[in-house]
Amino acid sequence: MDDSELERYARHILLPEIGGAGQARIRKARVLVVGAGGLGSPCLLYLAAAGVGTIGIVDDDTVDLSNLQRQVAHTTARIGMAKADSARETITALNPSVAVEVHRVRLDAANARELIAGYDIVADGSDNFSTRFVVNDTCYFLKKTLVSAAILRFDGQLSTFKAHLGGTNPCYRCVFPEPPPPDAVPTCAEVGVLGAMCGMLGSLQAAEVIKEITSAGESMSGRLLIVDGLRTEFRMVKVRPDPACALCGEKATIREPMPA
Ligand code: ZN
Repeated sequence: MDDSELERYARHILLPEIGGAGQARIRKARVLVVGAGGLGSPCLLYLAAAGVGTIGIVDDDTVDLSNLQRQVAHTTARIGMAKADSARETITALNPSVAVEVHRVRLDAANARELIAGYDIVADGSDNFSTRFVVNDTCYFLKKTLVSAAILRFDGQLSTFKAHLGGTNPCYRCVFPEPPPPDAVPTCAEVGVLGAMCGMLGSLQAAEVIKEITSAGESMSGRLLIVDGLRTEFRMVKVRPDPACALCGEKATIREPMPA
């Protein structure tokens, strides 16, 4: 590390759990962030600030005025711009040493393998179950760690999945076996979401990614965090691998990433 890197990351290097060695691992890491929206924005900002060497951004949407109440990687001047490009501008301004790879596509069963294969860790902040299941299945097949967050109204959830390691590590499908029927779960566009809740969950997601890269502390694999923002309560639930899981169970039936 040169002098400017030592200064930029001084507060990380001071942490015994990270130190110079951890900071070097962060610089070598390749992280894919799915969605440059409410969760992806804060997650991307903190990953870039932390000096993650290569950050991939998957998003096929453009910046809309109604996004700016929570999607802090974008600006009013960039309404109409592709979110992936807007996020890249923000990241590069914050930390020019981060290599940003922009994927202006919607991640689906057809392109997931190609998108995810080039990264070490995936942070999923997508806004629909179809994408979440495809990301989970693909990460399992490609043996990638997945840090997954979800948010609605004042509620949030966060966990880490690495079922490919076996043992006590579940996958997303072990916890949520079936996607809910269409229209059973409302979207943020229908029922709203508090902007700062996105900031909270997206920041937690970035922290878990950094922990996975550096092996600092305890992984969230096997634990699901449930955040009740209205009561300001954080509840941790144990989650276990499901032997009947269609993806990682004993009689798994899924052989390819499946659209939900
Ligand atoms: Zn499973």
